[in-house]
Amino acid sequence: MRIAIAKEIEVEVGEHRVALIPDIVARLVKQGLEIWVESGAGEASFFSNDAYEAAGAKIIHDAATLWGEADILLKVGVPKEHEINQMREGSVLISFLNPLGLPEVAQHLANRKITAFGMELIPRTSRAQSMDALSSQAGVAGYKAVLIAAAALPKFFPMLTTAAGTIKPAKVFVMGAGVAGLQAIATARRLGAIVEAFDIRPAVKEEVQSLGAKFVEVKLDEETVAAGGYAKEVSEVSKQRTQEVVAEHVKNADVVITTAQVPGRKAPLLVTEEMIAQMNPGSVIVDLAAEQGGNCAGTEPGKDVVRHGVTIIGPINLPSSMPIHASQMYAKNISTLLQYLVKDGELQLNFDDDIIGSTCVTHAGEIRNQRVKEALDQVRAAV
Ligand code: NAD
Repeated sequence: MRIAIAKEIEVEVGEHRVALIPDIVARLVKQGLEIWVESGAGEASFFSNDAYEAAGAKIIHDAATLWGEADILLKVGVPKEHEINQMREGSVLISFLNPLGLPEVAQHLANRKITAFGMELIPRTSRAQSMDALSSQAGVAGYKAVLIAAAALPKFFPMLTTAAGTIKPAKVFVMGAGVAGLQAIATARRLGAIVEAFDIRPAVKEEVQSLGAKFVEVKLDEETVAAGGYAKEVSEVSKQRTQEVVAEHVKNADVVITTAQVPGRKAPLLVTEEMIAQMNPGSVIVDLAAEQGGNCAGTEPGKDVVRHGVTIIGPINLPSSMPIHASQMYAKNISTLLQYLVKDGELQLNFDDDIIGSTCVTHAGEIRNQRVKEALDQVRAAV
């Protein structure tokens, strides 16, 4: 079984991660797998060809050979059309595929008869925890968001008692307390800020409090949690009610970190233009939902903009800005899935297994995932 690691070429999102790191390659080679690594695949994450070779991998200089002769190809970012065209029928691709946002890529994979697994579709269950790349990468993003905010804030985060007077700690308000939000809370607390957090799912209250932050509660008259524990899109009445409550907390914050997402939908607008106008000049907003439409009025993906004296930062692909640890964690996730799929040198495709069934996007010329099919129908209807 030949496993190949492609060099990431998603220049538009500045992809610096790599799908497997040398330590994990060494473990897979010990298990009898043949590993090919495209020359320079680890360069942007500081893993050299030499390190991969020392781990037992073969370095391949020609991308077309690597893509064309792999049994299973491992990647981070969504593959490009020309890359998919180089793959053999019946070969396997494991990568982030953004199948709900880019269902046409899934269609192309199906047309090429590739068996493709989307890392974003790993179920959020305890059994699949070590494969959960959404969580590992969201943790990186949450951490980095706070560092970006701290660097942009014209104030200290911690309280300081000095001969030059006492400095009050910064106030941080985290909106959306999922994996990224919880890591943002923990990081802001470690830097000494006073932290408040809000989430539409009341169940996160205890987790927020256990990290030493205050939970901002909004009582709504509807269910806010959908299947799988994800947030639901709520009614206009609930959105209005939420905005009334959170407005005061946004106003008092030095830093607002927004992380709210609803799977398959545009990100909810949480911070309105009016709220920004109420904030103190010099305050900072980091909008982690920038790529999904933004949680904040005025967010521009990949840019810093200033509105009413408030800096709004809309970073894209933050995990890639810490490529060593982001790649290490992703490599653990993807290699665990790989080992789950390959038993005794053979690919085991038991679609009744919840991990395999829900993660497989295309197989034998078909799109297998119902939500991806629906997303594709919508794209076609819009043309
Ligand atoms: P996400 O990235 O989809 O969304 C981030 C957060 O935004 C979520 O907490 C969500 O509730 C919140 N949000 C959505 N709309 C909002 C709004 N209008 N206002 C405020 N907040 C809003 O979330 P995620 O971090 O991927 O986590 C999603 C779910 O998966 C959670 O239930 C989490 O506990 C669960 N999870 C389970 C496991 C596991 O069991 N292994 C691992 C990770 C996550």
